[in-house]
Amino acid sequence: MAKNERTATDKQHPDPLVIPPAEHSISLNNIDREALKVLYRLRDAGHAAFLVGGGVRDLYLGKTPKDFDISTDAHPGQLRKIFKNSRIIGRRFRLVQVFFRGDKIVEVATFRCSSEFDLEGEEEVLAANNTFGSPVEDAFRRDLTINALFFEVDNSTIIDYVGGVADLNSKIVRIVGDPERRIIRDPVRMLRAIRHAARSNFTIEPATWDAILLHRDKLSLCPDSRIRDEFFKDLRGGASRAWAEFALDSGIFFVLLPFYQDCLTGPENVANRERLLALLAVIDRVHGEGNLLPEEMLFALLLLVWAEAEMGLGGEPLKGPQAFAFSRKIRGALDANLADLNIKRATREIVTGLLVNLPICEQCGASGKWPKWLQKKSYFRDVSQFHALCQEAESGKKAQVVFAEKEKRRDSPQRRPVRKKSSGRRSSRQPAFAKGGIFGLKK
Ligand code: ATP
Ligand code: MG
Repeated sequence: MAKNERTATDKQHPDPLVIPPAEHSISLNNIDREALKVLYRLRDAGHAAFLVGGGVRDLYLGKTPKDFDISTDAHPGQLRKIFKNSRIIGRRFRLVQVFFRGDKIVEVATFRCSSEFDLEGEEEVLAANNTFGSPVEDAFRRDLTINALFFEVDNSTIIDYVGGVADLNSKIVRIVGDPERRIIRDPVRMLRAIRHAARSNFTIEPATWDAILLHRDKLSLCPDSRIRDEFFKDLRGGASRAWAEFALDSGIFFVLLPFYQDCLTGPENVANRERLLALLAVIDRVHGEGNLLPEEMLFALLLLVWAEAEMGLGGEPLKGPQAFAFSRKIRGALDANLADLNIKRATREIVTGLLVNLPICEQCGASGKWPKWLQKKSYFRDVSQFHALCQEAESGKKAQVVFAEKEKRRDSPQRRPVRKKSSGRRSSRQPAFAKGGIFGLKK
């Protein structure tokens, strides 16, 4: 197809809004150098190419994007020829990763006509061959209007097929197209909607919100691995408190963590809700400073209110057989409650230790006199840090917690992954959504 030719589907959609440089503040200086190189190289090879998705959203909002994604009309095979140092990844929906010096990666996708989760019937089976589309189709397959903008570098224009710029200006999160249909096809879009509302301090548009309320239970149809990944992004994204407010108000929180229902709903539990939100604010404070809370610390903070309200944690420290029995009770409940989130056994054991040792920390921590036996324990550093973070949630006074180097953030998304030795197991190469039956949903 020629660069500017419009398909029959395109003609169903009105022309896009084209926002000139004078009407937005995106500057080429804020775009990653390597992403620009890819865009210019594609243009010189005669292809249409745009910066797309979250990168455009963040630049428009004056934030630093986590990654810069590029969409083009060049097919993966053509991309491989244009970029010698590249590789094709993905089985059904092939992406090209272009490698640069310093292990830098820029991901380039061919315009798609639907997302992997919107495909149906025969289309789904033939996905690898027939999913390429035009820019307008690519915009309409995206999740939220604010994530569906295109930025064209030659003229520094934003191309908006879906009203994303107006929604950015009005601070609104809106699912592209019919929200019910788009959520039913991929329930994870509900999580994405509340994530971006929380991160950017936006409101959720009423039709999108109503569709979330109506279909929130469908989240449990998604493969556990996908939910787990999304959930971790929200816990560690620096806006977990705001995320939890949306998740609690929409009921999504209780689809993810059903055991929390009894102690967080109703007027009698307002204090529990506030305490949970205060603990999440501490998680956000730590992540906002560039540290990475270890998984066990993250879960201990997340589960503390439940452990106090439902398990009876707190009060006088228990001793001997009573302490042992209590610890087993907590561990048993964690095993049951965290099964769907696929939290490692070792993590569950450490979370148990952090929770059950909190009362002794509270008793000794106030005076600063830690008993010798506790100081000698291998877990002393962790429990005292956990205690300090809980104190921060109560007092608002920043905890002096020093994180070990390995716990520093190292999840830069656009770095070349360290090549692992292949285990020879083909299943490990399957995309996460392939696990649980068709369309990424469990059968
Ligand atoms: P972040 O800042 O977290 O990276 P993002 O919006 O860039 O936010 P990504 O997961 O990197 O999120 O996805 C890139 C883009 O892919 C999104 O902006 C959106 O346009 C599209 N997208 C991602 N997930 C979906 C989905 N489930 N359905 C439709 N489009 C999606
Ligand atoms: Mg992104």
